[in-house]
Amino acid sequence: MPTTQQAAGGHIVIAGGGLVGASLALALLEGGARARGWRISLVEPHAPGEGFQPSFDARSSALSWGSRQTYQRLGLWTAIAAQAEPITRIHVGEQGRAAATRLSAEEEGVPALGYVVDNAWLGHCLWQRLRAAEGLTWYCPARVERVQAVPGGYHLTLDDGSPLDCDLLVLADGGRSDLRTQLGIHVRRTEYGQSALIANIGLGQPHGGEAFERFTRHGPMALLPLAGQRSALVWTRSPEEIARLQALPDAAFLAELQQTFGYRLGRLRRVGTRYSYPLALHEAEEQVRSHLVVLGNAAHGLHPIAGQGFNLSLRDVMALSETLLGSAAPLGELATLQRYLQRQRDDQALTIGFSDRVTRLFSNAHPLLACGRSLGLLALELCAPARQAFARQAMGLGTRR
Ligand SMILES: Cc1cc2nc3c(=O)[nH]c(=O)nc-3n(C[C@H](O)[C@H](O)[C@H](O)COP(=O)(O)OP(=O)(O)OC[C@H]3O[C@@H](n4cnc5c(N)ncnc54)[C@H](O)[C@@H]3O)c2cc1C
Repeated sequence: MPTTQQAAGGHIVIAGGGLVGASLALALLEGGARARGWRISLVEPHAPGEGFQPSFDARSSALSWGSRQTYQRLGLWTAIAAQAEPITRIHVGEQGRAAATRLSAEEEGVPALGYVVDNAWLGHCLWQRLRAAEGLTWYCPARVERVQAVPGGYHLTLDDGSPLDCDLLVLADGGRSDLRTQLGIHVRRTEYGQSALIANIGLGQPHGGEAFERFTRHGPMALLPLAGQRSALVWTRSPEEIARLQALPDAAFLAELQQTFGYRLGRLRRVGTRYSYPLALHEAEEQVRSHLVVLGNAAHGLHPIAGQGFNLSLRDVMALSETLLGSAAPLGELATLQRYLQRQRDDQALTIGFSDRVTRLFSNAHPLLACGRSLGLLALELCAPARQAFARQAMGLGTRR
């Protein structure tokens, strides 16, 4: 039986080189996969900068303080930070009501509560680093077409017909994972009956690092600070309303946004291309099998308003990489993969529950709930420990001991 120091060999294939798959490749390489004699292959149909790339599209992501620390440990933060805007304050409030709560980096004793980064930039930083990495084989552009469990691993067929065998297959192929479906892994899905409209907004005044989470009768909205006097808008409404907002001329769209959001960021001057995403909570009913892990959006997809989806997946990535590298068992052994899942179970349950409750509570127009919301926000404002617990969850530190 090999020890963790000995080279045990083995092949890991990561299907999907999006934010999650690429981060896992980096974590494994930085953690010492080569010293273990592992080969890592990354299969991805789209390269960033070559037209549309679904993971590195026009969205931006709020990275929590915890995610910053992770990328720092992986030696990537300096590159990411060149275009990351720090969030120094978060204002959580409700349209038309006075109650609000304010979280501040100063109060939490950190330089920033989080950072907003364009997904395209994050993808660029990850890929630049991985392009030069030894011990990683790229299959790009290539798609995993078929997956088949075989004794001791998985047999894959790529879209050009070539075969690929591995000891451990990681499905990081996104929320609509075809591969998960092929393997008969069911998904629990809760529709929110909402879509999100995403756009970058040019501001008439500096945002001062402040992020806004605003709850309206029709659904929550967030404006997150971006580099260059811009904020990233996430506006959730019914799918019909989102279609209407998307079709409005720029000036009419900005006027409606201004009316809903108010003037805390001064006059809203410009709007970039608008994109929309249907919103649902989904969770794969199985995340591990012998020689298989389902990761990232393929494992769980959250409402984006609390900015937790990718942050949670990055914590899964680190836990998986550390569990694999810390195990002396052959690659893909079920007990090791179950240990990984056990380690992340509380974090997943807490984060998914937090996002779901926030979404439901703040998307409901019932007057009693509206009153409860205001009281909740007021209580958060008045009670420092409650506010700190809320801030820790938002910073991605909630379950750390
Ligand atoms: C509107 C919106 C805003 C969000 N904002 C935030 C935020 O502020 N903070 C946060 O933490 N999270 C946020 N999220 C969540 C975050 O975007 C996701 O968690 C993240 O994109 C998941 O990445 P992924 O790599 O798992 O999946 P994806 O980004 O979907 O990537 C999957 C990859 O797999 C590839 N692929 C697909 N099929 C195959 C195949 N057969 N073979 C090989 N490769 C394949 C695709 O080309 C793609 O590159 C937001 C989500 C949305 C919708």
